[in-house]
Amino acid sequence: MKTLLKGGTVVTSSGTRRADVLMDGEKIAQVGRALNVAADETVDVTGCLLFPGFIDAHTHFALDVCNTTTADDFASGSRAALRGGTTTVIDFACPNKGETLKHGLALWHEKADGKTYCDYGFHMTIDDWNDSIRAELPEMFAAGISSFKMYLTYPAMMIGDENVYLALRELKKLGGIAGVHCESAGVINGMIAERKAAGKLSPASHPMSRPQGLEAEAVSRLLRIAEVADCPVVIVHLTNHEALEEVERARKRGQKVYVETCPQYLLLDDSLYYQDDYSAAARYVCAPPLRDKSEQKYLWRGLRRGEIQTISTDHCSFTLAQKDAGREDFTKIPGGLPGVETRGELIYSYGVAKRNIHLDTMCRALAENPAKLYGLFPRKGIIRRGSDADIVVYDPAASHVIRASDCVANVDYNPYEGFVTAGGISRVYLRGRLAVQNGIVLDGPQGKYMVRGKNML
Ligand SMILES: [Zn+2]
Repeated sequence: MKTLLKGGTVVTSSGTRRADVLMDGEKIAQVGRALNVAADETVDVTGCLLFPGFIDAHTHFALDVCNTTTADDFASGSRAALRGGTTTVIDFACPNKGETLKHGLALWHEKADGKTYCDYGFHMTIDDWNDSIRAELPEMFAAGISSFKMYLTYPAMMIGDENVYLALRELKKLGGIAGVHCESAGVINGMIAERKAAGKLSPASHPMSRPQGLEAEAVSRLLRIAEVADCPVVIVHLTNHEALEEVERARKRGQKVYVETCPQYLLLDDSLYYQDDYSAAARYVCAPPLRDKSEQKYLWRGLRRGEIQTISTDHCSFTLAQKDAGREDFTKIPGGLPGVETRGELIYSYGVAKRNIHLDTMCRALAENPAKLYGLFPRKGIIRRGSDADIVVYDPAASHVIRASDCVANVDYNPYEGFVTAGGISRVYLRGRLAVQNGIVLDGPQGKYMVRGKNML
């Protein structure tokens, strides 16, 4: 099956150009001006932007956490992703302490295989460290996993500075990379205990016990550990300028550091936690928490300057009923927000259209950089001959209002309810097949597991 997209503007990391795109089977066969070729179907995309399929390198589908399970499994989560122009997700496989990485990987394949609507890969969580886990790492690379996750917070997940160092040394040898959740566990626990003792149990205590300086402290500590381990790292979901300053310091020392932020930190702020209505506030609980509105400009600036390389969502969805678990105690609110369905339209609308973020910057942050960082390039992340025919057809002239009731994610609220988009996704192609048209997901679960290579960013 050959499909020709005619009259569109192709977005790349070095700018835009008017070009037709011929897809042949699952691949892009040709990109060029006024292609005069035979195709089974020719689609007029005049006036539309053609983005490489977006990659969301940070999702949590079907995750058992906080005594419950995320509302979205791989089927509903990846369906929502696809509807939002995301043709590849990288989810976090997460063995429990005491389990092997191999077990974690098998478990994640069980959750995802045959049920996922977009293409997918896994990062592997290292939440335990010993000789047998060390010995398993080469096997992970062979299974297509080149990136790992570590936590400097959460008792169930953290492994401590010594083991973070030892794990980074091992990843350095193997050419892997680690994304790290940076918040200072000890001090945060102390602040939580203080608030609880004072009877301050509402959602407002969530951001107050996780101040941004403690994120910056953990970023700084991690980067000093990474410096002596001589290993590149990714700071996942960075939220504020103090943390970003620590990254800049490390870069000046010559370190390779990559930064991810998320739409919620670019667009939402901590005033949402200070609403009197429990449910209105609890739905925004995530870690790190939303920050003061004044932080947003630093994140946009970091993106513009290339200090922030990727925008992922950290999609970790819970229904309002699940969020109710913390009515009497803010520490029992399951942490996480949905976002996988709205990232592309939000970044276009509130970045490109409103803040003059360049299209090439958006293309890098949502597609090319995650593809390079996580070893999917050039199969993914670019519209070029030979790449997978994953294409988002974006109509800048369209507009709609974001409503939870229109979304297909399995959540009964949307953090961006009422946000008006500039433009909208009119079509999404997944490996040459029309997968979404005008907001309707057309196909069943066609997602393939992606064996990933090493970082090339
Ligand atoms: Zn996460």
